[in-house]
Amino acid sequence: MKRPEKVTLGWKEFSVVYKQHTISEDGKDCFGLASYNKGEIFISEDSYGGANQKICGLLHELLHMVYIHYKTELTENQISMLVVGIGDLAAQNPGLMKYVFEK
Ligand SMILES: [Zn+2]
Repeated sequence: MKRPEKVTLGWKEFSVVYKQHTISEDGKDCFGLASYNKGEIFISEDSYGGANQKICGLLHELLHMVYIHYKTELTENQISMLVVGIGDLAAQNPGLMKYVFEK
C-alpha cells in the first residue's frame, strides 16, 4: 500500500512528511513529531529498520493527534503500549485490520 501523505481525522486534515534524516525535538532524537495545530506529522525514515516500524511510528503520532482531537488524556507510555498492542494484533492476525476498517 502506498504510504499516506494526507490523513483526515474528523474535520481536521494532517499532512504526513517523511524525512530522510533524524528528527529532533528539544535536543532529543525521535521517530516522529506531530503538531496538531499546524496539521503536520513528520516521520523519520532514518531511524527505522523496517516497514513495520514505520507503521508504528506513524500510528504513534496519529494516536497523539486522536487524543488531542477528542480532548482526552493519554500518557506517552499509554500511547506506546497501544501502538505495540495494535501492531501485535495486526501482525498476528493478517486481514484483521482490513476487516475492522472495511466499509
Ligand atoms: Zn509520543
